[in-house]
Amino acid sequence: MMDLHCHVDLYPDFDEVLDDIQRSNFYVLSVTTVPSAFEGTVRLTERLKNCKTALGLHPQLAHQRKNELALFDELAEKTRYIGEIGLDGSKGFKEHLDDQLIVFNHILRSCEYYSNKILTIHSLNAVNDVLACLRKYPRAGIPILHWFLGTKSQLDTAVEIGCYFSIGPAMLNSARGRKIISWLPINRILLETDGPFAKHNGKVLLPSDADMILHYLSSNTGSSYFEIKSTIQNNLRKIVSS
Ligand SMILES: [Zn+2]
Repeated sequence: MMDLHCHVDLYPDFDEVLDDIQRSNFYVLSVTTVPSAFEGTVRLTERLKNCKTALGLHPQLAHQRKNELALFDELAEKTRYIGEIGLDGSKGFKEHLDDQLIVFNHILRSCEYYSNKILTIHSLNAVNDVLACLRKYPRAGIPILHWFLGTKSQLDTAVEIGCYFSIGPAMLNSARGRKIISWLPINRILLETDGPFAKHNGKVLLPSDADMILHYLSSNTGSSYFEIKSTIQNNLRKIVSS
């Protein structure tokens, strides 16, 4: 199984998360929030062959770290995985949307040069803008919308332009999250935790907790746990082998 959005380097107890990845043998995408953190984060998990480090510049840091775009371009050839990137239109961040757009568009444009990237994308309160950027750069790579909280019509647009969706146990905490999960086409679903920021029942999530989603989906769709698991595993295989 998998956790396609996890801030491995930010866990207060690093051994615990490393242990969890090793024991579960999950395919883990270790996302970063600034390019200057990329190489250090690669070193943290280099002995784990199923743990991949993504190169990112988080939208909430775009206005402070846009000067790291040159470093982003320099490092982009070192990994197939890009994230955390995207836009954030929430309070406290929407006033920096201009900087966020400069950073996000720059990154998508850079990714088009490679054409095989896999992108994990933050779109909180900025779904329309994110989708408009993705339309502008259709060859940037395979977009995975992480913790998507848009409307049904935004979701339909995202599906139409080829987005995947990584969903995690924290989405089960709210009625809205559960509603959105019920709209998702099963062949576009991937798993994540967004640990250590995301929690479920008050507990910080570890990568192997992503498994909870499989149980949830099987009890809500009538398909067996193993059917769901094999479909979602297949979704990952499709994007990785494309
Ligand atoms: Zn995140």
